Amino acid sequence: MRKDRSRELLHRARAVIPGGVNSPVRAFKSVGGDPLFIARAKGANVWDADGNGYIDYVGSWGPMILGHADPSVVEAVKNAVDRGSSFGAPTEGEIRLAEAIVKRVPSVQKVRLVSSGTEATMSALRLARGFTGRDDIVKFEGCYHGHADHLLVKAGSGVATFDLPDSKGVPADFAKHTISLPYNDISAVRELFAQRGQKIAAIIVEPVAGNMGLVPPVNGFLETLRDVATQYGALLIFDEVMTGFRVHAAGAQGLYAITPDLTAFGKIVGGGLPLGAFGGRADVMDMLAPDGPVYQAGTLSGNPCAVAAGLKTLENLSAPGLYDQLEKISRRIGEGLAAILRETGIPGRVQRVGSMFTLYFGDGTPLKNFADAKAADHNRFSAYFAEMLARGIYLPPSGYEANFVSLAHTTDDVDRTLDSARAAMTSLAAS
Ligand SMILES: *Cc1c(COP(=O)(O)O)cnc(C)c1O
Repeated sequence: MRKDRSRELLHRARAVIPGGVNSPVRAFKSVGGDPLFIARAKGANVWDADGNGYIDYVGSWGPMILGHADPSVVEAVKNAVDRGSSFGAPTEGEIRLAEAIVKRVPSVQKVRLVSSGTEATMSALRLARGFTGRDDIVKFEGCYHGHADHLLVKAGSGVATFDLPDSKGVPADFAKHTISLPYNDISAVRELFAQRGQKIAAIIVEPVAGNMGLVPPVNGFLETLRDVATQYGALLIFDEVMTGFRVHAAGAQGLYAITPDLTAFGKIVGGGLPLGAFGGRADVMDMLAPDGPVYQAGTLSGNPCAVAAGLKTLENLSAPGLYDQLEKISRRIGEGLAAILRETGIPGRVQRVGSMFTLYFGDGTPLKNFADAKAADHNRFSAYFAEMLARGIYLPPSGYEANFVSLAHTTDDVDRTLDSARAAMTSLAAS
C-alpha cells in the first residue's frame, strides 16, 4: 500500500497547521503512525491521496448516515449554493429544518440552528443557567460535549469532585462550576443532588455515551437523571450530537422513552456540512435573544447550504424501514466481530447501540464507565487498527471512539470487514 502522497501532504500540513490537522483525533496519535489524507469518498468507501480505497467506519465521526456523497444530498447542496451561500438574514429553509426536527423529536418544541455541536451544547448550557438562575452543571466522566472551556474538565477521583480543567488555557475558575460524576452511577447522582441539588442548573449527558467508545446507559440511569432534575428544578440536557437521528428517528430519547428539557444536535442534522442545533421546551427556548435575556448568535447560523444538506438527510431517513435496515446490517457486524473474538480466543467485547459500536479488547466484561474504557487494552487496539488499515478497513483511529455504520454499508462490505477482522485477530493472537 503506497502512502507517499499522504506522507508528503502531512509534511506540508505540519508547516502551516498545528500537528498538520484541524482536529486532534485525526492525527492518529493514539494508534501511532501517520494519518491518511482523504481525497474523496462515496457510499461506504473512502479513498486516500495515494488512491488506496477503504471501507469506512468513521463516517466523518457520525454525520454520514446515508453514506458519503449521497446523490440527493449533493444535489440539494448544489441547488442551495447556486442560490447564494449565505445571506445573514432568515430563510425558508431554516423553518423547514426546524419543523423537521420538531416533528421527529417530541421534546423539542422550538429549536435554534448553530454551526457545530460545540456551539449547541455551549448555548444550551448558557440557556439552562439563564433559565434557572443557577451556576453549577453536572456532567459525566468520559462524556464529550465539545470544546467549550467549562466542559473540558477531567473527572477527579471519588464522587462529586469539583474538577480541574483538562486542557491548558482553561482557567480553573471557568471549570469550578462543573461537577463531574462517573457515568451510569445512579447513587452518585442521587447523593450529589441530595447535597446541593438546589444549586444545579443542568445535567448534561450523552444518553448513549459514544466518546469513550460505546457505553450504553444502564437500566434506570437516564430515568434517575430525569427524576432528580425534575425534583430539584434543574434542566436535563441530552447531548444527542452523536445519537440524534442515528439510534432512532427521535434519537436516544426516542429509544429509551425519556423526555429531556433541552437537546443538543450536530453531526447528522447537518448532513455532512457544519451545522448544529439546540432545542426543547418552548418556555425555556423563549428565554433566548432577541425575545429573552440569554444572548446567543451566529453569522453563519442556519447557513443555507448546511440547512439543505441536513434537511435532505432527514428527509431520506424518514423512508419507512431504514432504521430497521441499519439495525440489521449493524447487528451483522457486531455479532460477527463478537464471534471472531470467541473463535480466535482474544478477550474482548463488542458494545453496540444501533449503528454505533465499539470493539474493546480486555477482559470481556461489560464496560459501564470511563474507568472501564481506560482499563481496556489500548495497545492491542492500536495493533488491530494497523492490521485493519493494511487490509483496507478504515476504523476510527482511537480505542475511545465509536464506529459508525451507514445505510450505504452492504452485506458484502460487512462480510469483507469481518474477513479482515478474522485475519487481523488471527495475526494478533499469534503475536
Ligand atoms: C461531536 C460531538 C460534539 C461536538 O460537536 P462538534 O460539531 O465537533 O463541535 C458534542 N457532543 C457530542 C456527544 C459529540 O459526539
